Amino acid sequence: MRVKNLGSGSKGNSTLIETGKTKVLLDCGFGIRELTNRLNEAGVSLDEIDAIVITHEHSDHIKGLKSIIAKHKIKVYAHALVWPVLHSQVDNRLEMVFGDMPFKIGDLVVTPFVVSHDSINCQGFTFTCGKAKFGYATDLGYVSSEVLNMLTGSKLVFIESNHDEEMLKNGPYPPILKARIRGNTGHLSNIQCAEATIKLALSGTKYFALAHLSEHNNTPALAYGTVSNALANAMLEPEKDVFLRLTYQDKCGNNFYIKET
Ligand SMILES: [Zn+2]
Ligand SMILES: [Zn+2]
Repeated sequence: MRVKNLGSGSKGNSTLIETGKTKVLLDCGFGIRELTNRLNEAGVSLDEIDAIVITHEHSDHIKGLKSIIAKHKIKVYAHALVWPVLHSQVDNRLEMVFGDMPFKIGDLVVTPFVVSHDSINCQGFTFTCGKAKFGYATDLGYVSSEVLNMLTGSKLVFIESNHDEEMLKNGPYPPILKARIRGNTGHLSNIQCAEATIKLALSGTKYFALAHLSEHNNTPALAYGTVSNALANAMLEPEKDVFLRLTYQDKCGNNFYIKET
């Protein structure tokens, strides 16, 4: 399985998950031209994508959906509770509804789980193919024990490291927005991300990518530094026991390859 983030942050999110038989986009928060360019960089064309899976209806996750679907007729998978707000964007012949149970797209098993966020039933996911398991959780106010359970056993986890608590406190946002971000249905801070990363690393996850970094309330160095220091303090040595990478708003991230057998 190959996993490659195509861009992450409040201006757009999309991740490519690819096996020998199946190519899926998780979210589609870029316009068609931008998404095409970023997929090209990954060596994939939009015509090859089998399905788009949606976490939630916020525009940074669905911005390009309507125009892409109109042109490329790709099936769109979203939770039953989210469809009422997506109907207008998608030809109903392409609507694929999932509930709270795992479902299959080609040779990928997709397992959804609810994360706490101020949208309609925001979803995290794991994607498995053979022994390869990839876990994804962004746009969540806190990491519940249920979310940790779902992510446990993943070889690779993409987890949100949205803000530095001090930068958010002293930053330019109005108080109501600050409260929203740090609240239980907002976004994870670097410290919350670090705590979850330690727990997952201790249960065997080796590869992590920090996702959905705020442009105003975080820096890549702060996110990376906070999480890697916390790992080191927990006797998990970065680049030896655990491999930590970043995702970026303006460009693709690393290629991650996970063995299926
Ligand atoms: Zn988002
Ligand atoms: Zn969101």
